[in-house]
Amino acid sequence: MGKLAGKVAVVTGASKGIGAAIAKALAAEGASVVVNYASSKAGADAVVSAITAAGGKAVSVGGDVSKASDAQGIISTAVETYGRLDILVNNSGVYEFAPIEEFTEAQYRKQFDINVLGVLLTTQAAVKHLGEGASIVNVSSVVTTVTPPGTAVYSGTKGAVDAITGVLARELGPRKIRVNAINPGIIETEGAHAIGVIGSDFESQTVSQTPLGRIGQPDDIASAVVFLASDDAKWLTGEHIVASGGLR
Ligand code: NAP
Repeated sequence: MGKLAGKVAVVTGASKGIGAAIAKALAAEGASVVVNYASSKAGADAVVSAITAAGGKAVSVGGDVSKASDAQGIISTAVETYGRLDILVNNSGVYEFAPIEEFTEAQYRKQFDINVLGVLLTTQAAVKHLGEGASIVNVSSVVTTVTPPGTAVYSGTKGAVDAITGVLARELGPRKIRVNAINPGIIETEGAHAIGVIGSDFESQTVSQTPLGRIGQPDDIASAVVFLASDDAKWLTGEHIVASGGLR
């Protein structure tokens, strides 16, 4: 029996990349998983098919985490389909890099709306369904400590996620709900390919500074999220686990 047998999980932004790997890994440990997508229904349905083909349980649901009614709908899908909610992984996120002279208000609003407001709204919708032993995992980034040039807006959003994680760990601790962050280094995902990180000088410089000598793959993050979601991490809350092959 998997370590998450009987648990119900929501993973936001699970149609591809890190979120898809997290959804599959949670399901492989026995959780029933709600696979959220914003625009890629086909991607989310493929994740659901992979989970069910492996003997797991999953459904997909569309929804923009930066809209309160959509966030509510994502959480309601878990409760209506599986009758409860135990694990929330706030993974949805977008990244656009620009020097301070060039960033736009539109980039700021999009990234803060999805990366920060999305975490707050989805968590707000979820908390009334979470009980003792529940776990919230926020996907932050190593950028909050590495602070690479050209990432002021994106790193700002993830700094907010780190702070929110600490606040909610204190706020929800009395209800025995744990809240932790995972802070990945560069991970090879559809999104990282789309902005040209993979194959760039930035990637090779990062690898040269990474003790384990490579960039990450989505399953490098998924296994750490399974740990944080499970009772193996029952004494951890308010933590920021840097999953970056040692990059600091
Ligand atoms: P990705 O490949 O671009 O996938 C992003 C996911 O987020 C997709 O499933 C996308 O859904 C979803 N999404 C985007 N906007 C959304 C919205 N408004 N509402 C709901 N879902 C939305 O990204 P990734 O590289 O896997 O990144 C996942 C998370 O890890 C992000 O929070 C990112 O900041 C963080 N992270 C990534 C890296 C990295 O190097 N890749 C490093 C550190 C942290 P659709 O495709 O359906 O639109």
